[in-house]
Amino acid sequence: MLPLVALVGRPNVGKSTLFNALTRSRDALVHDQPGVTRDRNYGVCRLDEERHFVVVDTGGIAGDEEGLAGATARQARAAAEEADLVLFVVDGREGPSALDDDILRWLRKAARPTVLVINKIDGIDEEAARSEFARYGFEDVLTIAASHRQGVDDLVDEALARLPEEGAGEILDTDPNRIRVAFVGRPNVGKSTLVNRLLGEERMIASDVPGTTRDSIAVDLERDGRLYRLIDTAGLRRRARVEEAVEKFSVFKTLQAIEQCQVAVLMLDATEGVTDQDATVLGAVLDAGRALVVVINKWDGLTTYQREQAEALLSRKLSFVEWAEVVRISALHGSGLRELFKAVHRAHASANREFGTSEVNKALEIAYETNPPPSIRGHVSKLRYVHPGGANPPTFVVHGTRLKVLPESYKRYLENFFRKRFKLVGTPVRFMFREGT
Ligand code: GDP
Ligand code: GDP
Repeated sequence: MLPLVALVGRPNVGKSTLFNALTRSRDALVHDQPGVTRDRNYGVCRLDEERHFVVVDTGGIAGDEEGLAGATARQARAAAEEADLVLFVVDGREGPSALDDDILRWLRKAARPTVLVINKIDGIDEEAARSEFARYGFEDVLTIAASHRQGVDDLVDEALARLPEEGAGEILDTDPNRIRVAFVGRPNVGKSTLVNRLLGEERMIASDVPGTTRDSIAVDLERDGRLYRLIDTAGLRRRARVEEAVEKFSVFKTLQAIEQCQVAVLMLDATEGVTDQDATVLGAVLDAGRALVVVINKWDGLTTYQREQAEALLSRKLSFVEWAEVVRISALHGSGLRELFKAVHRAHASANREFGTSEVNKALEIAYETNPPPSIRGHVSKLRYVHPGGANPPTFVVHGTRLKVLPESYKRYLENFFRKRFKLVGTPVRFMFREGT
């Protein structure tokens, strides 16, 4: 399981600023895509390939017990109680307030490992701010200026030092021929129907992965002679704990499943189109750089006219993930499943394809000669060479000069060119641009 870090504090101390500083995706390309939304409360802090944690901005934890504020406060408390580490954020300019005192009292009761984070330290006396909060009695106190990113890297190091090791060893430790697949989607799209059908079919051997029988559940599956590990889906949990008939949508669990899989299968409901919650799950898949197959379920119940309408709507809503294969299925009747697994394999193969330096340079050369970058106010980018920068997702590092004026549209052109040339389907593709030689 990925560790969970909760930001707790009264309104206006800078929690969302800190949240953004921690979770901002380094991949600018996937940002600001129409059709993708991000859950504003949950995000993943990615340091490198190995060290990730989930951050939750709990909003205002204080509030009366009535109405909306009360519901927010209860949710915030629940998140903080689940957390492996609480960052108690306070405002260094204003000093301790009555609300901070309330939160502190509550935090003491919750008894989670907690670090006091004094924010807005820019331009003020740090020692004075520290001494103002000394009476709170924290051993671990950090001073930061979230809006300037000052101290944020130290904070991340401190947080990591206090977090449990990622306990996902059992799930991630598979033989290389076993593909880790997560079925993700909002409630009621048909995830458990699909998973139960897969596990119930003949010719398939399903077994629970040892050590994963409680919260994070994975099952191994063999289908048509190929090996899979199905990861942490609501469907699996439901199968294991029947009493949890109504499982509420958990962004945290969805994020975890996405982190642990190699191919995310996003399930949509043909009768409902693409909802905001779907877009949130999709945003998380893109942020994680996972291979993706889109499944449109409940295809059985539709008339021809409804199918045409659904097709038109979906192709518009999903146009920005054109690279993802879309498979229509009926989990209920078991139709389309063969196509689904073929698409999973293609996505996995594309995501893990290895590239040679000469083939990628040949591609860059042809792309460049066919369509050189435009002149922007008299400046033209020069692309000199490219080297493969890793798989999952395939990454290409382009070196050149005056790359600052390389338009986004040209970057998309390069991406599409490489996709076509190397027949990459079902996976995001990343380009990084390095100035100089
Ligand atoms: P939240 O309500 O706790 O989520 O607080 P926000 O992140 O919305 O921040 C509240 C205000 O404080 C905003 O106007 C921020 O720009 C400002 N702020 C956040 N971090 C800093 C900081 O490090 N220094 C200064 N001077 N202002 C900050
Ligand atoms: P989950 O919350 O995503 O796990 O969704 P469920 O598997 O519990 O399915 C929600 C509802 O949709 C149930 O009533 C299912 O019977 C129904 N359902 C699931 N798959 C299909 C399908 O392919 N066609 C139709 N018509 N209904 C389906």
